[in-house]
Amino acid sequence: MTQYLESDCANFKAEDIEYASRIIINNGIVIFPTETVYGIGANALSDSACQKIFKAKGRPPDNPLIVHVSSVQEVEKYAHTSSIANFGALSKLWPGPLTIILPSTELISNVARAGLDTVAIRMPDCNLALELIRKSGVPIAAPSANISTKPSITDSEHLRRNFDGKVDVIFNGGRTKFGIESTVIYPQGDTCVIMRPGIYTEEYCKVIFKHVIFSEDQAENPKSPGTKYRHYSPEKNLYVPETQQEFLRICRKNPKEFTPICSYETGQLLKNVNAIILGNRENPYEIASNLYESLIKFDQQPGDQGIIEPFCGNGIYLSIMNRIKKAAISVKDGEL
Ligand code: AMP
Ligand code: MG
Repeated sequence: MTQYLESDCANFKAEDIEYASRIIINNGIVIFPTETVYGIGANALSDSACQKIFKAKGRPPDNPLIVHVSSVQEVEKYAHTSSIANFGALSKLWPGPLTIILPSTELISNVARAGLDTVAIRMPDCNLALELIRKSGVPIAAPSANISTKPSITDSEHLRRNFDGKVDVIFNGGRTKFGIESTVIYPQGDTCVIMRPGIYTEEYCKVIFKHVIFSEDQAENPKSPGTKYRHYSPEKNLYVPETQQEFLRICRKNPKEFTPICSYETGQLLKNVNAIILGNRENPYEIASNLYESLIKFDQQPGDQGIIEPFCGNGIYLSIMNRIKKAAISVKDGEL
């Protein structure tokens, strides 16, 4: 049976943390909030505990998990940090939405690492999560708490529907702050490669690294195995055109055929009452935080298919587009 606990990142009860940490220590599974999305967590030192995560999510076994720690110092227990020239500066970015791939020690479960000799580590910026890790006394492996290939969950109201009876504890922590997953980086001395863009952009990475580069197309031989899989996809077909103009043209041509998912400003131009609004076009934080919630809403609304507005720009816009491109089917101008 799943136990539901009413604590969130800012306000949590000591007895809830105590209860959930005992579950982790006994190799059970706990869903908890972080500042990015909800995580489905287990003892990162135990193969059998980590296996339960793969089973509950239906995650391919070759897609490794992110291991969560509660301090910068802890990293040295579980990984070799010499691949980061400026490791000491990490405390400027942690706790925060940044995951670092490092050579692993043998302590971390081979299942969590999907057999790789590296481990992805992050210190989340959510006091509940940090306290849970501390109380458990072990690092917690926790990928996003969603069924594999489906949109990540950023509001606890969707957790019961997906995971009731499949996990031991669910924290009902409301909405998460950022709404898209952490930036994943691969450090090499004073350079870092961004494997998966997130809320921490190139600028943030420059706090620690002299050079920041984006990984090239990883379709052939991905260093971050998760990037090769279908991701974040709603049940219904969702299309993404190349430009806002094309988005508007398609919506106007087929007002009944597609549910539009777009910014507030673009929605004003459409005047379609069924449009799902992502937020203000000028506020990428707002758009990121509403993205997955909007994809889930789209699946729950009537209508067979949808179309989502593309965003251009750097920084967080680039991360938003990374998720949209994985969730939706790209269409060329004139195709629809
Ligand atoms: P998720 O936690 O579901 O948002 O996904 C975690 C992401 O981190 C996936 O894209 C994984 O492939 C990636 N990842 C986790 N561990 C490693 C690792 N050791 N090396 C490279 N990528 C990793
Ligand atoms: Mg995920």
